[in-house]
Amino acid sequence: CRMMSTSSFIASELTISPTSSPKEKLPKEELSFGDSFSDHMMEIDWTKEGGWGKPRISEYANLELSPASTGLHYGIQCFEGMKCYSTAEGGLRLFRPDRNMARLNSSMSRLAMPSFDGGELTSLLKEFCKVEESWVPQGAGYSLYLRPTAIGTHPFLGVDVSAHVKLFVIASPVGPYYPQGFKPVSLYADSVNKRAWPGGVGGFKLGGNYGPTIEPAKEAMAMGYNQVLWMWGDNDEVTECGAMNLFFVLEEDGKKILQTAPLDRGDILPGVTRQSIIDLAEGWEGVEVREEFPRMGDIKKAADEGRLLEAFGSGTAAVVSPIERIHYEGSDIDIDAGMGSDSITKRAWDDLNAIYYGEVNGPEGWGV
Ligand code: PMP
Repeated sequence: CRMMSTSSFIASELTISPTSSPKEKLPKEELSFGDSFSDHMMEIDWTKEGGWGKPRISEYANLELSPASTGLHYGIQCFEGMKCYSTAEGGLRLFRPDRNMARLNSSMSRLAMPSFDGGELTSLLKEFCKVEESWVPQGAGYSLYLRPTAIGTHPFLGVDVSAHVKLFVIASPVGPYYPQGFKPVSLYADSVNKRAWPGGVGGFKLGGNYGPTIEPAKEAMAMGYNQVLWMWGDNDEVTECGAMNLFFVLEEDGKKILQTAPLDRGDILPGVTRQSIIDLAEGWEGVEVREEFPRMGDIKKAADEGRLLEAFGSGTAAVVSPIERIHYEGSDIDIDAGMGSDSITKRAWDDLNAIYYGEVNGPEGWGV
């Protein structure tokens, strides 16, 4: 519609300037997460006066920014994480890109940045993936990780709406997050540091949410745990772990309860993987999805009673991470992270991967 197109950039205006010096690619076995980048990047600039400019794809290069850019001072920055998969039939596939587009729009609007038409950016991402097709590594666990990012570029030291914004997309070829395979992780339930809180911005993908998690994660690692389990409130409600959503599988009256924190309080990142597991699990017999804050005391009690069957984190990077141990209030809760045939963790992993790599289509609109 005309209204939309005037307030968004338009995919059909894309210009592509291919690099004249393609980089050498690492053998895929040597890829480690997020430390090498493809040949090109995509950029779209916005100004208060002129609105969105034309999208362009050109050689991956350093940005030129004023040191006064708002993005460098006040955290006017947000991002997305998604993957382009090479399918068995030799095509390229994105997974539920509409969800990432909606989340990016939501993060940008929280930072008073302009909105855009998600369908247009999805079209542009498809073009970008086609340009970078040779950078999409093939095989199970491999993909081209896409990092759409928006930053305030206005050179102005006032705390105000950024009058210039840059939206850009870079891409990094990645292999399996845990090269040893499906590796269980351990968590440290941190009763001091909080990632997010009601009324805060944990439900948006702002860079400012991540920097402050690094020091607590470092401390957890020094104590022998892989990641932090984030809690909130007097009842030690479980919110997320590391940069993943968190699920527990509990036994209750002969059923399996798949429990995860709800989104409505605004302190949980609305993970695409989280929502997809919930959507899939609604159709699993004997499994009941419960979007209610798990409380650590209840989780410990369930473990003591033998009713805590599984726990796992979910996110685009690692897909599903089984959890084998949680440190809470001075002792460890051990969880059987066995990948038996009736494991929900394994089922989520298998079902999602089958859709990512095009072995099955999955629900309408998921594989694009
Ligand atoms: N929680 C946080 C804090 C995250 O950073 C991520 C990664 N985007 C997730 C959850 C998982 O989200 P998704 O499934 O969309 O990757």
